[in-house]
Amino acid sequence: MDTLVAKTGTLLNSAADVFDQVVSKASQFESTLSPAAMSVVRGFMGNDVLSAGFFLMIIGSSYTFFKDLIVGYYQEVQSWFYVSIIVQEGDQLYNWLSDWISERPLTNSIRHLSAKTVWPENDEDLDYFDDGEEERPKLVYAPGSGSHVLYHMGYKVSVSRETPEQDNSSDDSDRDRSRFLKKQSITISTIGWDMRLLKMIVQDAMDKSYKKKAGKTTIYSTQPFDSYWSNTETRTPRAFHSVILAKGLKEELLSDITMFRKSARWYQDRGIPYRRGYLLHGPPGTGKTSFIVALAGHLKMNVCIVNLGISGFNDKQLNQLLNGAPRNSILLMEDVDAALVKRKAGKDQEGENNVTLSGILNSLDGITAQEGSVVFMTTNHIRKLAPALIRPGRCDRKLLFDYADEHQVRGMCLKFLLSRSASGQLTKDRIPNGETSSDEVDPEEQARMDAYDAHVREVAEQVCLKITHKDAVTTAQLQAFFMLHRESPDTIVDAIPDFLKELVRE
Ligand code: ADP
Repeated sequence: MDTLVAKTGTLLNSAADVFDQVVSKASQFESTLSPAAMSVVRGFMGNDVLSAGFFLMIIGSSYTFFKDLIVGYYQEVQSWFYVSIIVQEGDQLYNWLSDWISERPLTNSIRHLSAKTVWPENDEDLDYFDDGEEERPKLVYAPGSGSHVLYHMGYKVSVSRETPEQDNSSDDSDRDRSRFLKKQSITISTIGWDMRLLKMIVQDAMDKSYKKKAGKTTIYSTQPFDSYWSNTETRTPRAFHSVILAKGLKEELLSDITMFRKSARWYQDRGIPYRRGYLLHGPPGTGKTSFIVALAGHLKMNVCIVNLGISGFNDKQLNQLLNGAPRNSILLMEDVDAALVKRKAGKDQEGENNVTLSGILNSLDGITAQEGSVVFMTTNHIRKLAPALIRPGRCDRKLLFDYADEHQVRGMCLKFLLSRSASGQLTKDRIPNGETSSDEVDPEEQARMDAYDAHVREVAEQVCLKITHKDAVTTAQLQAFFMLHRESPDTIVDAIPDFLKELVRE
């Protein structure tokens, strides 16, 4: 109310000021004129057409004055009768509320929608257009930009989604930078003075999101120029046993991290920052990223991935990202070498669109917001990294993910071939380390499967003789090869020479 009175007062005062000024200017003007000139002016004033024009001018200015007054009043008065909550992009709540809204039944009053495609987690939920046709994602609609109405527990709730205006600047970097500064927002509002309904909605959006995430791995990533985790993907955790590393490496890493996560007190007592850094290096396609995602699932943690090979991040954004990572997350900085190589090549101006070495170092050293931070860096070229980046404290363990050794060749072969019955049908959840699905299998079928698996194990041994570490084959290449032959284990051994000949060295 006070603001309203103040606003009206200001408008009236300024109108009075303008009037005073007009009167004083008119009298000054009159005093400067000669009597002859004055008589001309009076003649004009006596003219009907000119008087009518003057009258219209007064009406026009009064209209503008009262219109401003009414609009001012209207917005003030309107705001007395409703309550609202605004949520901005960049906070996790924005995504939760967005999902919550898109799950509401859409009312007829919503005429502007946004649509996106989503791949359902369960195969049964996939929309098959027709037998034999390719799988299709689901279409999910949500209220688009602008104001909409929806109902919650019988109450009317207004939703307004504000999208900042596009910057049409022809300069790409200006446009990207302005995207970084402007954020989308969602405002929910309802009539009355009671906030409880809106707070319940926000709480419900958060609860539903946590329920959906339970038992899943959430992967946060970002786009260039964003200094917050703008993309979220929730996946069924990748089975830890599905990543096949050199013998003992997986177990060693797991026990190192588990030990670290139990040692908060130890670090505290010694005044050491409670964080641990790992560098995984080796050729592309050796399972570095897959391992980290599987590890996060195994430890019930999230993963925040930032790819430094993509230009568009500067030091400040990287710092904000790393410090703003959701709790219980593994931070993964991919291709750390690429960012620095590009900088050296001078393709982008240092510090503008790229991170600098000192920026990465500061960000790593400054990760203090999160207690017990686990940071992984990956690179295909360890030699290109500055020693400062990989010294202990920033990078406590350096682990080579190398070309496949005998253990991995055997493991990958069994992974893709063992899980088949003798009749060629897939058996569910059969995995190389001997665990089997709890599904009941007919004893005859079981006997056929056992015989088939015994044969596959023999094939795997022959494969191990033909593909060795010296052949420099990555596990990703093995995956492609075994997948291709998964229906016909008998042809695998003969196909190996061609496979090795055609390998593309990366
Ligand atoms: P990197 O990060 O080392 O480049 P990725 O983890 O991205 O490799 O692996 C690429 C693909 O190859 C993924 O589909 C992954 O499943 C498969 N793959 C690579 N290495 C392994 C491995 N050691 N065990 C199981 N799968 C692997």
